[in-house]
Amino acid sequence: MITVPLVDLHRHLEGAMRTSTVLDIARRAGHPLPDAPRERFVATSRLAGLLPYLDRVDAPAELVRTAEGWTRVAREVVLDAYDDGLRAVELRFSPWFVQSRTELAPEAVIDAVVEGVAQAQELVDLPVGLIGIMLRDLGPDGALPQLASILSRRDAFVAIDIAGNEAGYPAGDFAPAYAKAHEAGLRLTAHAGEAAGPASVWAAVRELGVERVGHGVRAAEDPRLMEHLAEHRIALEVAITSNVQSGAAASFAEHPVRTLLRHGVQVTLNTDNPRASNVTLSHEYDVAATRAGLTADDVETIARNAVEASFVLG
Ligand SMILES: [Zn+2]
Repeated sequence: MITVPLVDLHRHLEGAMRTSTVLDIARRAGHPLPDAPRERFVATSRLAGLLPYLDRVDAPAELVRTAEGWTRVAREVVLDAYDDGLRAVELRFSPWFVQSRTELAPEAVIDAVVEGVAQAQELVDLPVGLIGIMLRDLGPDGALPQLASILSRRDAFVAIDIAGNEAGYPAGDFAPAYAKAHEAGLRLTAHAGEAAGPASVWAAVRELGVERVGHGVRAAEDPRLMEHLAEHRIALEVAITSNVQSGAAASFAEHPVRTLLRHGVQVTLNTDNPRASNVTLSHEYDVAATRAGLTADDVETIARNAVEASFVLG
C-alpha cells in the first residue's frame, strides 16, 4: 500500500478529455459524430508506433471548436484527477495544436483552459500546474512563435515542453526557445527517449537544459546517460501503459522501468493520456507492481520522487 499521495506530472489535456464529453460537444455543435469513437479515441491494444498512438490522443480535439468547449474539457479533466485521489496534477497542452484543429487563437485556448481549471478549483482543492507544449512538427521556425503565445500568458504556466514527432525533429532546434523560457522563470521538461534513442535524451539534457524528461525510457540503453540523470536528479516522467501501446517498450514485463530504478534514476509514474490509454494513475501504480515487476519499496520510492520532482508543488 502506497503511503504517499499520488501526483501526475505528465498528463495531456487532449489525451485526458472524456470521449463522452467530446461526443456531447460535437452533437450540440452539429458536427458529424465519428463512427466507433472509442476505437478512434482510445488505444485498446499495442499500436504500430508512436504516431498511430498520438493519433488516438489528438483525434477528439477537432470536435471541440469553441472556447467554452475547452473550458468544459479542462474543468472535467481536473475533476477526474481529483476523483482518482491525486494530490496534484500537471496538465500539458499545445495551444498551437488546438489552433491547428479548431482555428481558435492560441491565446484564446490558453484563457479557456485557465478558466476551466479555475472552475474546477472552485469545487475541489487540487493543485494544478499547466505546462505549455511546443509542437516539434512545426520545425525550428515554429519554436519561438509558439513560445511567444505561451509567454503572452506567462503566469498561466509552470513549465514548457516539446512533443510530437520526436524522431523527425531534433531537440536542439528548440534551444533558443528553451533559453528564453528559462529566462522567463519557467521550468523545463521535454519529451525524449520515447520514439528515439539515448541521443535524443542527451540532446534534451545538454541542449535544452531540462530538469525532467517526458518518458526518457530509452535512456536505459545507455549506462552513462543513466548515471548522468541520476547524478543530476533529472526525473523521468514514465508512463508504462502508454509506452507499451506506442511501442516505446516491448511489453509490460520488459519495460525498462526496473533498469532505470536500479541505476538510481529518479523515476516517476504518470498516465500520459488517461482516455487515450484507458488508464488512471492509481491503475498505473498497480500495473507497475503487478505487471512490470516493481517491489512495494520501488513503488513507494516512485511516489516520493513524483512529489519531489513536481513543478506545481515545488
Ligand atoms: Zn506525453
